Amino acid sequence: MERLYYNNQYINEFLADILDISFVDDKYLVELDKTAFFPGGGGQFCDLGTIDNIEVIDVFEKDKKIFHVLNKKPSNLKNVNCKINQKRRLDGMHQHFAQHILSGCFYKLFGKNTTAFHLGKEFSTVDIEGELSLDEIKKVEEYANYIINQNIEVKTLIPNKNELKKIKIRRDLPDTDDDIRIIHIEGLDTNCCCGVHPKYTLEVKVIKIKRWEKHKNSTRVKFLAGDRAINYLFKRDYYLTDVCKVLKSTDKEATLYIDNLSNKLKDTKKQLLDLEKKVIDFEFESLLKNSKPYHSDKIDNLNVIIKRYDENINYLNKLCSKVNDVENTVMFLAYNNQIFLSCSKNLDIDLKKLLPSNFKGGGSKFLIQGIVSNGLDDFFDNLDFNIRKEVL
Ligand SMILES: [Zn+2]
Repeated sequence: MERLYYNNQYINEFLADILDISFVDDKYLVELDKTAFFPGGGGQFCDLGTIDNIEVIDVFEKDKKIFHVLNKKPSNLKNVNCKINQKRRLDGMHQHFAQHILSGCFYKLFGKNTTAFHLGKEFSTVDIEGELSLDEIKKVEEYANYIINQNIEVKTLIPNKNELKKIKIRRDLPDTDDDIRIIHIEGLDTNCCCGVHPKYTLEVKVIKIKRWEKHKNSTRVKFLAGDRAINYLFKRDYYLTDVCKVLKSTDKEATLYIDNLSNKLKDTKKQLLDLEKKVIDFEFESLLKNSKPYHSDKIDNLNVIIKRYDENINYLNKLCSKVNDVENTVMFLAYNNQIFLSCSKNLDIDLKKLLPSNFKGGGSKFLIQGIVSNGLDDFFDNLDFNIRKEVL
């Protein structure tokens, strides 16, 4: 079975004969006499496309045979027309080959080898041994793009065992009796790989490192290459232009302006909290002054404050909490159907006992928060009644 993708990595249409069709797990596995469908390998995903206009949903290799997975059985066996999804092939080839370039750069510049590679749907990752500094990342990114722009020919060698011993290869060779394919980028890297590669480095167009993080004993470097990188960079540029318009800044000034805004926001929040505290203190004093004290044998001068507010819940919570700082006071505040109840710590009152049945909530002995399901007016009337009954 001839592997056309190794002779010409740009074939996107070819004719082939079907040698065998097997039916496994409700799918048809088709073997061809020759194929340009790459079955995946070296971290590169497999090709998809069509055979005789029937969609190829997967391609894999087993026992040196390549199987094309179809949902429908092809009716013709001779000279079937096969088409490769070229966009997917080129994308996979560019991301995969970008890893070769990055791995070569990390090794050449800093002697750090590659421990893993993953080609993802959105971005890819290459794991580099040890830790990496920002300076190293920047140098590798710059050098990788320099290598791309040098348009270096990518050579594929299949040396015999003796020739292989003389070649300096970056990583350990696989333990196999099969031919070993060596991918050589002049002046940068030599490594074995079963993937499909472009003819020249310039085809990768550009490599952009997105971010990096520690991963086990390596550093995982996320990157984009080819059209993925170009689309990403264009998008980022649009975003930055929008951000600068809002900030009325240049690109360089943007982060400085955001820092300034963030600091101003912090100062403003602090001022707002100081003012809020003053307002709450003032409000609380005013409520105490205007409340008519209840008198009884049990307790003299009991201040009972019941009031509805339009302010936010946080404000009411703080206002209610102030009752704990004074003596002989109970307070009931409402915002819509939300209720805050509190009483002074010197009072031997169980707030929960005062609550009408349509209240749901919880809290401490001196501060309770909850909601009234319906009839706020009745709720307050009942509350007032219960207080009198309990205290007076
Ligand atoms: Zn490769």
